[in-house]
Amino acid sequence: MSDQEYEVIVIGSGPGGLACATLLQKRGTHTLLIEKNDVLGGKMMSIDKDGWAYDLFPHGQVPMRGSAFETIFAELGVSDEFEPALEPDDPRDVVTLAYRRHEWDKYKTVTQTQAMADPAPFFDLWEADEDEQASALTVLTEMVTMSDAEIAALDNMTMEEWLAERDVPAPLYNYLGFHANASLAEPLDLVAASEQILIMKQIMTQGGGGQYKGGFGGLTTVMAREFEKNGGTIVTGAKVDKITVDNGAVTGVETTKGGFSAPVVVSSAGIHPTVLKLVGEEYFDRGYVDYVKGLVPGWAFTSVRYFLDRPVMDTAMYAVWSDDSWLDTARFRKQKEGEEPDEVILFMCNHSFYDEHAAPPGKQVLVSGTVCSPDPDAKEIEGLWRCMDKQMQDLFPEIWDATERKEYNGPRQISDLTRDAVLPGQGGECVGLAQIIGQCGSMKPKSETSIRGLYLAGADAGAAGMGTHQSALSGIEVARLAGHRLNKMYKAQ
Ligand SMILES: Cc1cc2nc3c(=O)[nH]c(=O)nc-3n(C[C@H](O)[C@H](O)[C@H](O)COP(=O)(O)OP(=O)(O)OC[C@H]3O[C@@H](n4cnc5c(N)ncnc54)[C@H](O)[C@@H]3O)c2cc1C
Repeated sequence: MSDQEYEVIVIGSGPGGLACATLLQKRGTHTLLIEKNDVLGGKMMSIDKDGWAYDLFPHGQVPMRGSAFETIFAELGVSDEFEPALEPDDPRDVVTLAYRRHEWDKYKTVTQTQAMADPAPFFDLWEADEDEQASALTVLTEMVTMSDAEIAALDNMTMEEWLAERDVPAPLYNYLGFHANASLAEPLDLVAASEQILIMKQIMTQGGGGQYKGGFGGLTTVMAREFEKNGGTIVTGAKVDKITVDNGAVTGVETTKGGFSAPVVVSSAGIHPTVLKLVGEEYFDRGYVDYVKGLVPGWAFTSVRYFLDRPVMDTAMYAVWSDDSWLDTARFRKQKEGEEPDEVILFMCNHSFYDEHAAPPGKQVLVSGTVCSPDPDAKEIEGLWRCMDKQMQDLFPEIWDATERKEYNGPRQISDLTRDAVLPGQGGECVGLAQIIGQCGSMKPKSETSIRGLYLAGADAGAAGMGTHQSALSGIEVARLAGHRLNKMYKAQ
């Protein structure tokens, strides 16, 4: 085969594309990985610059035990390099929870270990009375003991509908409203109960919100190194402009660095960009094109990074919410229409807690994020940054003096970095497609397409669960499908 010919071409080096590419190559498939950025990793990218090393976006892993990455590292034979920085049984106070009940003036905080299997710190935080504790325990126990089939049966029921059938104390209800925003970037009134319960169960049984040594980018580094070691080719700084199709089958791609051919193309560029732009509507039947156009994007996250001349946070993660700050669809609309909130939910990561090289000695780097619209031109973002800065100052009064520099990110930056906006109001999604009713489980877009040899990998197709984990799970499955297709082709020859 020439440098231009491969068995499989994978577009995109986020967790979905890279998982797929590295497994295919390990199994002996001649694979090309094409990434438009100069740095690999997609939304899971880590930055290493001027003595600071950190994940570009605030990331926490769910599940911590038994994640898709653990499976991939095992198949690659590099389990010894799978190094969670925060294990579920880490005895340190790893997470700070800050919560305000509607009737309180101020936030109350508690710290707790990683596992989150023990609800006692939550009950303390909520100042829950005995009745509230008992009903909260009943609901949490039901979630944790549900079988996979019972969870999957809830694909078409919203979490709000599921909770309405139960006796749920207000602090737990408000926590789940926050959790839908923070873990799924969705509102409680639209998120599929199957997705949210799956993630809650994983947090309680397998640990949640963990990190990795070297950040999430450390996972990318190992998977990419193994890919190349096993003979795979990576081309960075090459944007795919077109996926070429002939007679109903893919033939390759055209990129800013030339053309490449393969009988199998896996795209993790997102379902909308892939179908509507890279391939083109004319290659699919009208029903599928309308279906794709109707798929709803997930919300985005906008973040502020603080480069600090001294430590101000002493845990790895900080989660902040009140009864009034989490967003359902109605509150989201108000925010989008320009009503600047007094407070927002915040999810913060302190890279320095788990990585001594994250900041120069004596310094600290923090990133704090909140949910927003995925529209790259969303008008509310600057108001959210003002609100986030003010809230950070209330939580950490010394942060202003300690800040050497700040960096702001939002849907515009996410879209520019990882996902073309091909329909109005889309592109800056945090995860990918919204994990809402009608788009999850059996109704999630399939990885196979009607074009022979074209597969979709990553957050938009095939899998369930939280962000990076579900994308990598999808990559694992597409590697299987692509291998199967190649085998079939070879047998037919
Ligand atoms: C602010 C923020 C916070 C998040 N927090 C968490 C968290 O706490 N936990 C968690 O698990 N997940 C989190 N996520 C979500 C997670 O990062 C994503 O769900 C995941 O990275 C999606 O993986 P993917 O492979 O599907 O797509 P991506 O990571 O978006 O990768 C797609 C890749 O394809 C490339 N590409 C696109 N188009 C082309 C083209 N035409 N040619 C060549 N290359 C192309 C892109 O450059 C990119 O590298 C967060 C995301 C954001 C933005």
